[in-house]
Amino acid sequence: MALRTVSGQQMAESVDDLVAWLRSLSGGPAITRTVVAQCTRPMHGDDPATWFYVEADASAGVGRMRCLACGDARSVLDSSERWTFPSAWSCINCRQSISEVVFGIHADDNGRASWLVMCVRCVECGHLQGVTDLVVDELDVEELASSL
Ligand SMILES: [Zn+2]
Ligand SMILES: [Zn+2]
Repeated sequence: MALRTVSGQQMAESVDDLVAWLRSLSGGPAITRTVVAQCTRPMHGDDPATWFYVEADASAGVGRMRCLACGDARSVLDSSERWTFPSAWSCINCRQSISEVVFGIHADDNGRASWLVMCVRCVECGHLQGVTDLVVDELDVEELASSL
């Protein structure tokens, strides 16, 4: 694992490291499933886009991401119904605003998901940050994962 700490901040070399970091987090519900966000609109062909602009409000539990390449915006679950117009995410380390996004899901042994966390990796410097989390209402984990 290439996770490293720079000046007390978590950094990662790749999106795989972000997944590993998510799974190692303690203090919250255990992450049992991770989903790397991709934009699979036809214009990307066989090469889904993975770079996004992110807007998220941790206090309200809402998030939205917009594909850098095609501009398509997607809200996380029902975020659009509770939207609080948060400002766009930018890296607290290097200030730029393009990130890769990974979702972490907590599900029980029966595959019922109850919690979702949205995390980003700065594509410039590798800084990792959890940007928002949502309580979900006992959704089937695979159904939830495919809706992200
Ligand atoms: Zn796209
Ligand atoms: Zn950065």
